[in-house]
Formats: sequence, structure tokens, C-alpha cells
Amino acid sequence: MYRLLFTAAIATAMACSCAHADKSLRVLYLTKSAGFEHSVVKREDGKLSYSERTLSEIVQKMGGTITCTKDAGLVNAENLKNFDVVVFCTTGDLTQPGTDKEPVMGPNGVSDLIAWIKAGGGFVGYHNANDTFHSPEGSISPYVEMIGGEFATHGPQFDGKIKVVDPKHPAIQDLADGWSLRDEWYISKNFNTGAIHVLALLDPGKVRGKKGYDAYKIPNYPIIWCRALDKGRILYNALGHREDVWDNPKFQALVKDNLNWANGKGDLKADPNFSAVVPTTIEEKK
Ligand SMILES: [Zn+2]
Repeated sequence: MYRLLFTAAIATAMACSCAHADKSLRVLYLTKSAGFEHSVVKREDGKLSYSERTLSEIVQKMGGTITCTKDAGLVNAENLKNFDVVVFCTTGDLTQPGTDKEPVMGPNGVSDLIAWIKAGGGFVGYHNANDTFHSPEGSISPYVEMIGGEFATHGPQFDGKIKVVDPKHPAIQDLADGWSLRDEWYISKNFNTGAIHVLALLDPGKVRGKKGYDAYKIPNYPIIWCRALDKGRILYNALGHREDVWDNPKFQALVKDNLNWANGKGDLKADPNFSAVVPTTIEEKK
């Protein structure tokens, strides 16, 4: 069993006066898979996974530093002090060894993470981040309450069209309305409707009603949203199952926007808007 802790650091040039260098960006990227292990987070031959390499390049281009880890134990109050933004692409109950057998999160990991966000931390979850710490029957888990929605299901991959509902929002300023791309499109449930600000919906288009795609017989539904939590900022982005999504310059520009916003740049714009922008609730249609 290897444990790889990769730190890529570029010192911020002392002479740089550019506006984007005025605040540090120290990212912790966690990819432990206690549940299903996605190919984009799988390390082979001791090398960083596909998404780890891509995210590292993006953060370095932004002048930041990144620590890529599969050790969920690094999510603790003391260690979180070293970071500005925490990114999850995880699955399952991270306090358990689970599928990848990587080190587990301590019993206070989630509460430490939430306290750190409340004190001003930024949290970004990609794709399977909301397939993590599922809610027990009859209640909502603290992690799901925090991230704002919980993975419910997905069908076969298809070319989905993204409908931007807040085009000027700084967290998605490079996301073009109507962008169509192939991915595995997560459908979420248990939305924290009183807290989240929906940024984009997925339009299943032609597969809505097509044989084999029954899950998508629903109205356009939220795939990217954000929220405030006291002084902190939280963003969830359902994209990122496929390697070629991580490769896509449009996705990489979106990731940059996501990280910058989570790091406190740009207007907050996190007023809850669920009932105003989501056609009907998914729960009603399922
Ligand atoms: Zn997936």
C-alpha cells in the first residue's frame, strides 16, 4: 500500500503586482474513495491520478499551491489551518477504510471541516463529492446539509446541455449558457433549498424519455450550486466523471472560477434561489 502525498508549490513572486496574486490559494485535494472509486481519482504505479494532475496544473497556473492526498485524516482542525480551499472528489463514509483502504477521517473530521468553513474556509466538491457521507434513513447527514444536495442516481452517459441560471456569477463566469458535453450526469436529492444558490441546471434534452434513460424523465435540474456558511463559501459542481471533461479547457476555466470564488474572490451572491429557478422539485417527479 503506497501513500503518496504530493505537494506542488510555486512561490508567489515578490514583485508581482497582479490583482490575482493578492491572496494566497492553498488547496487541499482529497480523493479518498470509501465507496465507488472513479477512474479520474485512481492512482496507478505510484503516480498522481488524472484529476490530481489536472487540478495541480490549474492551481499552479493560478499561482497557488496544492496538496493532493488520499489520507482523509488530514481533514482535521489543526491541519486545515494550512489551507484556503478544500476540494473533495470522494465517495462513501470517509471514516471507514472502504474500497481504496486509504487512511480514514477521524471522528471529528466533518465537524472540524464545517467549523473551518464557518470561520472563512472555502469548500469545493466535484462530481462524486456528494456521493459521500450519505444521509441515514429519515434524516440528513451534516455533510450533505453542508454541501447542499446528495447524490441520488445516474443513468448512462450522454451529451447534456448546461443551462446557466446566474450568468454573471463570479463562481461560473467562464461557463457559457448552452454548453453541451458528454459526462455521467449525477442527479441529486435532499437539496438544502433554504441555503443553496443554484447556478446551473442540466437539460437532459433528447434522452429525456429515451429507453434506458428513465432517471432523466425529469425537469431541468440543478448541477452546480453554491452557498454561504457563516464566513465560508461552498460550491458543488456535478461535472467531472470523465477524463476528457477534466481535459476540456472550458471545464478547466470553470474550475478556476470555482476555486477563486470559494477563496473569497468576487461577490458572494449566494442568496437562496431554489424555488425561483428550479422548474419543479425532482422529488415530486420521481
Ligand atoms: Zn461518476
